[in-house]
Amino acid sequence: MTFELTLTGAQHELVRRAHTFAEDVIRPVSAKYDKLEECPWDIVDEAAGQGFYNALFYADLIADPTGLSLPLFLEEIFWGCAGIGLTIVLPALALSSLNQAGTPDQIAQWAPEMFGTPGDIKLAALAVSEPQGGSDVAHLQTRAVRDGDDWVLDGTKIWIGNGGIADVTIVNAVVDPDLGTKGQALFVVPKNTPGMTQVRKLTKLGHRASHTAELAFEGCRIPGENLLGGVDKLEHKLAKAREGGETRSGALGTFEQTRPMVAAMALGVARAAFEYACQYAAEREAFGGPIIDNQGVAFPLADIGADIDAARLLCWRASWMAASGVPFRMSEGSMSKLKASEVAVRATEQAVQVLGGWGYVDDHPVEKWYRDAKLYTIFEGTSEIQRMVIGRTLPGATAEGPLHHHLPGDHDGLSRRFGHGSLARARAGEVFLKMAEKAPGALLELGGRLASPGR
Ligand SMILES: Cc1cc2nc3c(=O)[nH]c(=O)nc-3n(C[C@H](O)[C@H](O)[C@H](O)COP(=O)(O)OP(=O)(O)OC[C@H]3O[C@@H](n4cnc5c(N)ncnc54)[C@H](O)[C@@H]3O)c2cc1C
Repeated sequence: MTFELTLTGAQHELVRRAHTFAEDVIRPVSAKYDKLEECPWDIVDEAAGQGFYNALFYADLIADPTGLSLPLFLEEIFWGCAGIGLTIVLPALALSSLNQAGTPDQIAQWAPEMFGTPGDIKLAALAVSEPQGGSDVAHLQTRAVRDGDDWVLDGTKIWIGNGGIADVTIVNAVVDPDLGTKGQALFVVPKNTPGMTQVRKLTKLGHRASHTAELAFEGCRIPGENLLGGVDKLEHKLAKAREGGETRSGALGTFEQTRPMVAAMALGVARAAFEYACQYAAEREAFGGPIIDNQGVAFPLADIGADIDAARLLCWRASWMAASGVPFRMSEGSMSKLKASEVAVRATEQAVQVLGGWGYVDDHPVEKWYRDAKLYTIFEGTSEIQRMVIGRTLPGATAEGPLHHHLPGDHDGLSRRFGHGSLARARAGEVFLKMAEKAPGALLELGGRLASPGR
């Protein structure tokens, strides 16, 4: 599938439906849930009613060969409200781990339990981060120890979206501490499993409609079949890791796949703030005219507009690469998340600035967007970690040249031989220039026209 900026009919319709939902259903209650700091159950139920909250919907978006459907959807929903948006998509993040690490039977069993149905909404969580460190995933401490047919989990997880209220929690735990990320595995812990408790709900700067908690696992016993992928696969993976072979961590694989999704979320918030600030600046008058007539107001907004579009292109490129199986040579997924998250922070800060005092109070939504945006430079890998990941690829990737040098061409022999910039066209040009000295102008013009289309 080639990279295309032109949306399909289905994608246009998806954007329209998601935007209408964000504008009519999410935005009117966004400030309310931000203040209440409560899970927006009714909005999630409404999302389910509209088909935006079930495992097959996400499977369908992920299966889109262009890769664009999922970021398109996310940008619109997060344009509505980041906190409510996160509540709606958190099960999809957990589902992504389930899909990567689980067997077909496990996926069939647990995926429906992560979303429920309209009128019977369920939630899911992905629990990786721990109090002693979220970035350094090689040193996680939550242990999973085999006991007969069961596994027993002990440890603490923190900043877990839907933690403690999720029907299904996917927990990353260490099975062999000597192997770093290769010694980790994912486990399904259903709600109300004895030994899993919510220590506390966390009070946050932004994304306040999304429930975030600290979880404790104390002798938390789960059946053997809740190990994602099964014990044979785990033992094979551990044996390979002990021999020094290449293996994948389920949770880390998920991070790589989900980073462009986080970029799309950040873009939704950035765009909301940018649009609001531009409208405000066009209407607000000072010194006898709209404030946008001042370069001091218009230029930073122009920069933000360009940066949002650049970040969206990075996000779409990474999503297209993931869908097309193009290898991430320079961590293009991390690049998209890095750029989109940082532009979201700048866009929302600029929006507060453009609104002046009105930007600082909650009469307008920009102060909320400012608080919401900051999360994107922190979760799913901080900006520093994105730079670290990109930085590691630099010597190899830059030696090999940019990505487009490595993408396959369209194998169209005619285009290669006679398309724009081909040697044949260069030679033809030389001939025409020689003819120009002898032939009449009209004949030359006709020749030039005949030569020009060549697509
Ligand atoms: C609202 C919210 C929701 C979240 N949701 C989830 C969730 O659902 N599930 C989940 O598992 N986790 C979740 N997280 C956790 C999140 O992914 C972590 O907070 C994040 O990975 C950073 O980890 P940390 O907070 O421990 O920071 P640390 O790892 O302690 O880092 C602290 C600072 O040091 C910097 N740093 C660390 N190492 C390096 C280095 N080598 N070079 C340069 N700088 C470095 C970091 O960039 C950061 O600025 C959530 C976090 C928040 C705030």
